[in-house]
Amino acid sequence: MAWTNYHSHTNFSDGKLTAKDYVLAALEQNVFQYGFSDHAPVQFECEWCIDPEKLSIYYDTVDQLKSTFSDKIDILKSLEIDYIPGEITNSDFKNDLDYCVGSVHFGQKLEDGTYWVIDGPSKEFDIGVKELYDDNIQLAVEQYFALNQKMLLEDPPDILGHFDKVKMHNKNRFYFSEDASWYKDAIVATLETAKKQNVIVEINTRGRYKKISDYYPSQWVWREIKERNIPIVLNSDCHHPREITKEFSLVAEELASIGIKELMVFENGGFVPRAFDGDGVILVEP
Ligand SMILES: [Zn+2]
Ligand SMILES: [Zn+2]
Repeated sequence: MAWTNYHSHTNFSDGKLTAKDYVLAALEQNVFQYGFSDHAPVQFECEWCIDPEKLSIYYDTVDQLKSTFSDKIDILKSLEIDYIPGEITNSDFKNDLDYCVGSVHFGQKLEDGTYWVIDGPSKEFDIGVKELYDDNIQLAVEQYFALNQKMLLEDPPDILGHFDKVKMHNKNRFYFSEDASWYKDAIVATLETAKKQNVIVEINTRGRYKKISDYYPSQWVWREIKERNIPIVLNSDCHHPREITKEFSLVAEELASIGIKELMVFENGGFVPRAFDGDGVILVEP
C-alpha cells in the first residue's frame, strides 16, 4: 500500500524547495505516484505563478526527474491551471501534461484593472465583494461557484481543485453559513456538474493542516460525493516536502467509514478507480 498525490507546488511557483526535494521526501513518505502541479503561468503580474519564461525549464525538470527515478516512483507532469475566460483555461496547457488540475483563484476585474483574488487576504477579498457585488456576499459566493461550473462545462480539467476554497474567509470573519440552503445548492450544483463532465473532485487537506480553513471540500460534502458516486483523489496541495501526505491516513479512514471505496489512480494515460485503506491505495501487481 502506498499514497498518491496529484496536487503539489515547488519553487517554480509558490512552493518551497526544489522539485527534486519533493521526490526524495515522497519516497520517504511511502508515495508511489507523485504529480507536480505548479501554478500555470498567466500573462499578467502574478507572484505565485510560474514565470512564463521558465515554463519549459519546469517541464524539462519534471521530465528529467521522471526518468531518473522511474524505478522508484511514478512522477507525473501537471499544472494547476486558473480559469479566467478569455485569459487562461485548461486547454492552453493540457496537451503538454499527463493530467491537469483546474482551480479558480481569480474572479472578475476590479476597478484598478487587476483580477479579484478569491483566496488571498480577507482585506482583498472584501474589496471584490464590495466593488463587484455591492457587498452582497451571497451573490459573490454564488458567482464563484458559477465560475467553477463554467470551467467544468466549457473546458473541463481532469481534477477540480479545492472547489469550496472561498469558505476560507469564514475563518477571519463570519461571512455566511455553510448550512444556508443557497450555499448547499451551489455546492451540490458544482458537484453535479463535475459528475456530468466526468471530472475528478479532489479532497484537499491543505486548509486543515495549515489551519487556514478546513478540508476542501468540507466533510459534509464528502457524503454528497458518496451519494453521487463522484470519483475522487486525495491531495495535499503541498508547498513544502514535509506536507506531501499530511492528514492522508486520517482522511482515508474517514472516507472509508462513510462508504467511499475507491480513490482514482493514474494508469496508462488515464485515471482508474483503486481500492484503498488508511495506509493508502491497495496496489495491484501487474
Ligand atoms: Zn490553488
Ligand atoms: Zn495548489
